[in-house]
Amino acid sequence: MSILLKNGSLKGEKNVDILIENDKISKVAPGNSLKDDKAEVIDLTGLIILPGLVDLHTHLREPGREDAETVATGSAAAARGGFTAVHAMANTLPVADTAGVVEQVWNLGKSIGLVDVYPVGAVTIGLKGENLAELSAMADSTARVRIFSDDGHCVSDPVLMRRALEYVKAFNGVIAQHAQEPRLTKNAQMNESELSGRLGLTGWPAVAEEAIVARDVLLTEHVQSKLHVCHASTAGTVDILRWAKGKKVNVTAEVTPHHLFLSQIHCESYDAKFKVNPPLRTDDDINELRKALAEGIIDVVATDHAPHPMEDKEGEWSSAAFGMTGLETALSVVATAMIETKLMTWADVARVMSEKPAEIGQLTEHGRPIAENEIANLCIIDPNASWKVDAKDTHSLSTNNPFHDMTLKSKVIHTIFRGKFSMKSGQVQK
Ligand SMILES: [Zn+2]
Repeated sequence: MSILLKNGSLKGEKNVDILIENDKISKVAPGNSLKDDKAEVIDLTGLIILPGLVDLHTHLREPGREDAETVATGSAAAARGGFTAVHAMANTLPVADTAGVVEQVWNLGKSIGLVDVYPVGAVTIGLKGENLAELSAMADSTARVRIFSDDGHCVSDPVLMRRALEYVKAFNGVIAQHAQEPRLTKNAQMNESELSGRLGLTGWPAVAEEAIVARDVLLTEHVQSKLHVCHASTAGTVDILRWAKGKKVNVTAEVTPHHLFLSQIHCESYDAKFKVNPPLRTDDDINELRKALAEGIIDVVATDHAPHPMEDKEGEWSSAAFGMTGLETALSVVATAMIETKLMTWADVARVMSEKPAEIGQLTEHGRPIAENEIANLCIIDPNASWKVDAKDTHSLSTNNPFHDMTLKSKVIHTIFRGKFSMKSGQVQK
């Protein structure tokens, strides 16, 4: 079975034909120059071709919360969003803190076969922040874990954080920190500001994130290890990252689509679909995050796709769960925030949503050049699309999408995973 993609725009730079045979790209040639009578021919005139997207931060909820998401439904949402690889966070039930659990998630991903699912291992047993989990056993397992995170919880004890950073050096691992000083965010509900005071919601100060990022950068430099900062959300975090990168500290960082696009003003509605951890910040923060992403101070976009059943998001703001879905809207939100504003090009989007995340995850078959003999993992986008988000139109089991009813630019049309369509003309190929 072969596929011939005709006359698509490679990262928005030049038109090409791509012949895919089995799971590989077998030929790349100038637009409208290839012929193959046996291949399925798809005309991509006017469409953009990027390497398949890679998410460093997805919550798939299985095992344990299959009412919110499963590896199967999350994989389908990922395929629809243009992703060919996702990293599944460890805050499942049981927690992914042993080789057994990460292998279970890895095998589920393989058996579904819509996207490569790479488990993230917990840093501490049960995410309790007390004792290190079996990091090397997870690294040596068939899931070959390289990213470790207690995401949802901060590894707040500096001694434990130091030990974790030291420990993962043995297998070139990285600690991905959810930066939230717990004592500064007790009962916190939204960004600390004049607005939180007016709305009567407990404030979540920027310094609660920045204090941990600064501390961890210093610890990482001290023990010469690798740190990844999850969901950077403040201008102050950008300043610290700029300083750390200037000093050549081995730190990378991600920003979510929602922190690039939505501000705290949405909290005025008291609609808990805007309740998220870390919270939506100010317009100044959004501007600094966008600039930092374009500049490379923030390395990647990661979705923090966090599905929750309706009953956990309805009712009073203060009792609702934190989190938003994001796999199916990520590319369009980034295009609207970064391409429409001319802050980035499609080649930049390929860098921050595929190449760099694959490099951080140490993936060898994703985020690669679109060239002969590479595995065919591709994402094909209509850059002229304009569409209104309907939260109910989703492959996720959950509908807590904050972009509901908003109009976004650009849309993923096809996803090719290991040489086959995982999504074709908007339809996931189950
Ligand atoms: Zn988190």
